[in-house]
Amino acid sequence: MSNAILHSSQYQNYRRIDLIVIHCSATRTTQRYTVDDCRRDHRARGFADIGYHYYITRDGVVHAGRPLYTVGAHATGYNQHSIGICYEGGLDIRGRPSDTRTSEQKETLQKLLERLKEDYPDARVVGHRDLPGVKKDCPCYNACVYAHV
Ligand SMILES: [Zn+2]
Repeated sequence: MSNAILHSSQYQNYRRIDLIVIHCSATRTTQRYTVDDCRRDHRARGFADIGYHYYITRDGVVHAGRPLYTVGAHATGYNQHSIGICYEGGLDIRGRPSDTRTSEQKETLQKLLERLKEDYPDARVVGHRDLPGVKKDCPCYNACVYAHV
């Protein structure tokens, strides 16, 4: 599967975007958790669709989640004006929070953020845990290092 998403402008959006929030799927590095698994689980929780706009699997492929013009369901209080990106993983083999991103995932995430920053130059990049009131480790690494890409 190609990463065609990375090569097209995503600026087809009537929403104001000032925030890009990074998440992990909170699944173990040894567990396969595909975009279809995520979509199924989110629908089971009553969401209309997968809550994220992008989902990056361990092989570094970025999968389309919700269309960007649709409000996501990934960060309570911030969904209206943000984009949600999730990577597969976030827990080590014992289930502890850990930066389990593969080199392919890191590379794709960097490219996706650069692409999105072209379309939304004023958007801040943060991890889920960096938002006020969030009491989880998601995305299990310091996502703010991408703030200035
Ligand atoms: Zn999260």
